[in-house]
Amino acid sequence: MPTDERAYWDALEVRRPGDVPAATPLAWQLAKHTVHNDRLMNRALPADSPHEVERGDAGDALAVLALRESIRQDIEHGRGVRIREALELGATWAEVAAALDMPERETRTLLRTWANGQRALWLRHEAKGVQPFGLDAAEHAAVLALCGRDTETPAAETPDGYEVRESTRRYAEELRSTPGKASADGHTDWECTAGASYIADAMTPGPGRLGTIHAAIYTCPGHRAATEELIASAGYTPDVRDTPPDHRWDPWPCGHLTAFKREALTALCGAPAPARQ
Ligand SMILES: [Zn+2]
Repeated sequence: MPTDERAYWDALEVRRPGDVPAATPLAWQLAKHTVHNDRLMNRALPADSPHEVERGDAGDALAVLALRESIRQDIEHGRGVRIREALELGATWAEVAAALDMPERETRTLLRTWANGQRALWLRHEAKGVQPFGLDAAEHAAVLALCGRDTETPAAETPDGYEVRESTRRYAEELRSTPGKASADGHTDWECTAGASYIADAMTPGPGRLGTIHAAIYTCPGHRAATEELIASAGYTPDVRDTPPDHRWDPWPCGHLTAFKREALTALCGAPAPARQ
């Protein structure tokens, strides 16, 4: 946090929990609480104390109450995130319930309520046309799947709710049958420092209903049209989708290309495919 934000916080008068700006670190709130609390403690000092001391007043008492309530709410609000994290890191529901000293059923309800709230938040932002945060549909489904998991099943196993895409499954099969030969990475010719929020597949129709994927190009919103054009000019049909949730936090660079067929690498990069054994 920048120091001017800290200075603003230190000078801010808090008389109710709503006075605390969103995302104020707990450590800052505790520090402010200590200042007011120390003044209140000074009231116990003798009136003829040789030291000049500030003695707490009603404002300090109200600040202490408001800050404690704000801290309590923040800690409570953080439980959903922490439960999800614990489960994803391999804790069981029984362990999570024990950590919260709560019946397991209540713990599950807590996570489900949090997930629904985060989903609603996402949808509200999306409806307003602003960059949404919270949980998208796939993440929401994954958390609900966690809510339904057995008591003793460690969550390190693949969560339900994510389905492997047909094209991804086919790629895995291709890798299995011809290891080291099915894919080759490349790059489009443009320079872009943005992370990719879309994946554009280069497709041809058939043999099955879903068609055949030849390559995938990671692209940012600004290069989306150029990517589609590139794919079309190479003779494929572009099929653009959002990057999966885990790619969004750690995005691939725009322009990264994974070719599943050598001809596709040549056609889309304009560079000869590297020789592979
Ligand atoms: Zn770009």
